[in-house]
Amino acid sequence: MKKKKIPERKCIACNSRDAKKSLLRIVKNKDGEIFIDPTNKANGRGAYVCATKECLTKAIKTKALNRAFKIDVDDSVYDELLKELNNYNDEN
Ligand SMILES: [Zn+2]
Repeated sequence: MKKKKIPERKCIACNSRDAKKSLLRIVKNKDGEIFIDPTNKANGRGAYVCATKECLTKAIKTKALNRAFKIDVDDSVYDELLKELNNYNDEN
């Protein structure tokens, strides 16, 4: 029997690979808006980070998102992502 392939994504902060669902998808849409995509279905360029404050904070400090999206991500966007992560963890 063929083993079912689980899509793996790499965290932009710690570089560990994990099954897609334990990582948080961050999307930049065509309008340049950056947000957490809990549905994993939003259109746009996606980057993945562990759903932990540690990894998101590290991604912010190392400007990993700037590299992933090839743009300068504004500090206010990072603040917003941290807030969204807190909400996300509260709901799950
Ligand atoms: Zn990570």
